[in-house]
Amino acid sequence: MKNEVKWVVKAIKVGSITLDRSAMTHYKGKGEIIKVPIWCAGATDGKHKVLVDTGIRDLEIYKKAEPGVEQKECEITEVAVKDIMGWDSDEVDIIINTHLHCDHSGSNAKFVNAKCYVQKSEWYEAFHPIAPEAPFYDKACYDKTAMSYFRWEFLEGDVEILPGLRVITTPGHTKGHQSVLFNTNNGIVCVSGDICNVAENVNENLEPNIVISVSDVYESLDRIREIAHYILPGHEPGIENGSSEFIPVINP
Ligand SMILES: [Zn+2]
Repeated sequence: MKNEVKWVVKAIKVGSITLDRSAMTHYKGKGEIIKVPIWCAGATDGKHKVLVDTGIRDLEIYKKAEPGVEQKECEITEVAVKDIMGWDSDEVDIIINTHLHCDHSGSNAKFVNAKCYVQKSEWYEAFHPIAPEAPFYDKACYDKTAMSYFRWEFLEGDVEILPGLRVITTPGHTKGHQSVLFNTNNGIVCVSGDICNVAENVNENLEPNIVISVSDVYESLDRIREIAHYILPGHEPGIENGSSEFIPVINP
């Protein structure tokens, strides 16, 4: 449509993790050790400055959950956001957290003027995680020592945040996981967080790393296939830092 708001979305690399590829692809590629990026996304409609996810808070703490994690100076979130988007940290208006794992919510507090959007169910889960999820939640990323609770916006279900920008619920990796959809000149781009660690999750219907509900995962992958044309998965190695070219979603 002519007057539809279009967004420009860019991938922002904020670290990397070395791991067995099959951890992310449900046994496919077992024994193959690879290094994958940790992605955030920056997006603008010409007016708003939006980040999806904010990377790591404290590398040493995150190493306890994920020993293969690394971060260069230029990958510290606020440095990388300035480099790729040209934004100072106090200029970001909106943060949308796909979920509150510590490699996706770690630097929210650095963006002092941003409202932070998360599903209400994810917020609850982040304070009461089930055992396998617990090492990945670091309360210091999001509790009141990190930032005022007034900065949070709690969402319930699918919500349009701004014209051309909406979230859909995609549970399964965590209870309150959401994916973020942007209308762009190339179609709908899905910033998927960890419901898809890599594009194979959606394109080959393979479950990602850390699953709390198998049935929810496969329903969420169906949702993304139905809606999105392109995907920026949370840890996809086939995307360039700073690029707006993402992986086509195969919709059989
Ligand atoms: Zn995660």
